[in-house]
Amino acid sequence: MYTYGPVPSWRYGRSFGVDVTSPPKKCTYNCVYCQLGFTKEHVTSPESIIDSLPPTNDIVNEVSLTIERLDIETIDVITFSGTGEPTLNLDIDKILFEIKSRVAVFQ
Ligand code: SF4
Repeated sequence: MYTYGPVPSWRYGRSFGVDVTSPPKKCTYNCVYCQLGFTKEHVTSPESIIDSLPPTNDIVNEVSLTIERLDIETIDVITFSGTGEPTLNLDIDKILFEIKSRVAVFQ
C-alpha cells in the first residue's frame, strides 16, 4: 500500500500521502525528531536500495485509483513522505509527472 490519508497537516491542510519508498524505513539520516523512529538500516546511496523499492507503475496506479475514489476537492496537497526519504527513489520525477498528469484529469 503506497497511499494514506487524506490526513490533517498543520502546514498544508488536508494532505494525501504517497509513500515512494515502502517499509522498512529507508533513510540516509537518523534525525532525533523523526516520526518514523530510529533508522535501523542506514542507506548510503539511492542506488543501494533500487532493488527494494516498489515498482513505479504500482505506485502511480494506486494513487490514481485512490484519487478516483476520493473527492478531489477534499485534498489540499499531495505529499511524498511515508516510510523514508522520498528522494531516495530515483524514479520520483517519473512518479511526479504521472501523478500530476492524472490528477489534472480528475480536476
Ligand atoms: S525520514 Fe526524514 S526525519 Fe526521518 S530520519 Fe530521514 S530525513 Fe530524518
